[in-house]
Amino acid sequence: MKSNSETILKGIPICRGIAIGKPYVVSLSDFHIPDFLIPEERIEEEIARYQLALQKARNDISDLLKQAAKEDIAESVSLLDSQLHMMQDPLLTVEVENEIRKSQKNAEAAFHLIIANSQKKFESLDEFFKERFRELKDISHRVLGHLRSSARTSLATLPADSIIFSRELSSSETAEANIASVNALVTEFGGLTSHAAILARARGTPYVSNISFAHIDPTKHQLVIVDGRTGEVILNPSPKTLEKYEKKYHQLQTHLKNLAQVSRLKAETYDGYAVGLSANIEIASEVDTLHSHGGHNVGLFRSEYIFLDKEKLPNEEEQFKIYRELVEKMKGHSIVIRTFDVGGDKRFPNQPVSNEVNPFLGCRAIRFLLKEREIFLEQLCAILRASKYGDVSVMFPMISTLSELIEAKQVLAEAKKSLAKRGEKIGTVRIGCMIEVPSAAIIADLLAKECDFLSIGTNDLVQYALAVDRGNHALSSLYTPTHPSVIRLIRSVVHEANHHGIPVSVCGEVAADPRFTPLLLGLGVHELSVATRYIPIVKHAIRQTSIVAASRLAEVALSLSTALEIQTLLDTEYKKTVPDDCFYNC
Ligand code: PEP
Ligand code: MG
Repeated sequence: MKSNSETILKGIPICRGIAIGKPYVVSLSDFHIPDFLIPEERIEEEIARYQLALQKARNDISDLLKQAAKEDIAESVSLLDSQLHMMQDPLLTVEVENEIRKSQKNAEAAFHLIIANSQKKFESLDEFFKERFRELKDISHRVLGHLRSSARTSLATLPADSIIFSRELSSSETAEANIASVNALVTEFGGLTSHAAILARARGTPYVSNISFAHIDPTKHQLVIVDGRTGEVILNPSPKTLEKYEKKYHQLQTHLKNLAQVSRLKAETYDGYAVGLSANIEIASEVDTLHSHGGHNVGLFRSEYIFLDKEKLPNEEEQFKIYRELVEKMKGHSIVIRTFDVGGDKRFPNQPVSNEVNPFLGCRAIRFLLKEREIFLEQLCAILRASKYGDVSVMFPMISTLSELIEAKQVLAEAKKSLAKRGEKIGTVRIGCMIEVPSAAIIADLLAKECDFLSIGTNDLVQYALAVDRGNHALSSLYTPTHPSVIRLIRSVVHEANHHGIPVSVCGEVAADPRFTPLLLGLGVHELSVATRYIPIVKHAIRQTSIVAASRLAEVALSLSTALEIQTLLDTEYKKTVPDDCFYNC
């Protein structure tokens, strides 16, 4: 493939938005050479990093030389000795340093270039020099190995306008990637609900996954466009494409800026029906962003994020501090803390990797907590203690039977009793039940009698209702939240909650999709809980809707027979309310 021609790759859109920037390659294969620009002020640091790697490689070879001498392997001694001499060569010292200064590239790229250039020279000469080049290659692998072990820490200090390319990203890497300099993320692996995806969405970083790097080398490309709405990644865009995307980018920015204006306005339909609009958060710092969006409540705190990527589970005292800080940050606004949702794709610290054949149908969430009572009890004690500092609700994930909810409430009562014995004061805590499994949706009337509110988790409800793995890209065309069965389940849950006089919210990804807003309101949903950055777009959608029109739309949707028909209906309605280029997912 010609490196300078425009190449369009199609992946799965994970986080919406458009980004234009320079590729920063983290890892595409074991032998990949990362290639990126270094900010001027970090050049000397980069040279020092190279010198250290070179020194480490020298130490390795000296150690090997000593070993070879001890074992009396003359041939090795002579080869290693000549390698040590080669390492003093200005090619590996002065020239590489000069190249880092001149090109302002990272040490690996500069080093690789110098080696590749000398390969051309050596190969045009006789066998003696070819042999010398083999030795040089050997040294270079060693130096690169040492460089690589220190290279990954640099995600926090990337040059401006970087677009990260990586096989996959862990949530800590995503968190490490500096928000000010990273314009977008592109990975080969990682689903919509991966931790990296959730963090990217929380930060509003455009992200496309499922991009195959098999036939491309992003290091060869100077410029990349990432369209997080369509899942397109365009390498080396033509001037025409670039112009088109720059225009789209500015339109989108203006649209988002206009949306931000609605932050100060109420979340109510234009005929005055008030809608609860709260946030889904994973990390405490998101609360600050939330306040800047107009001080909303938190409808879902995914508490398992306090230990994902950690070696061990925080104990009760440590958890208490985390929850208390979070609750205090809420400044009186309410927060729903969901107890740990582990299992499925989320591993518990120190727990062996699941050997279940179907972990999503296995010991996940409430099933895990009821089995590991001590862990559950400890978490509930920590939440209850934090409840003294604000307005806290507790919510149980993945309930599929009434007995699970009753048992969970018993553990909560046990936690209260144990705290009372310890003389700890607690606040009033409401109890919520997540509706994520079809069985729970069908017995919503029974569950509603046992709790203070219901929250519909459509991410899982869709996966379990349609028997489609939510993380399996190959099946993404079957993962359809507009499937009539899903719409009917939501309607039935809402009906039962309303009938029993308890609030019901929707907190899955569909709540953040403005195309669904009128439908959900029309079905009788009172509250939507969405990732912080979607609050403006959803509030805008609420304000564009009248409750009468929403009810009518829901009626029409319920009369349709296929997911496609319902999706088309929602798309058509939504298109009427936004400028063309800003349409949610075109
Ligand atoms: C859901 O399933 O819709 C939900 C909100 O929970 P999670 O995405 O954390 O599984
Ligand atoms: Mg869920």
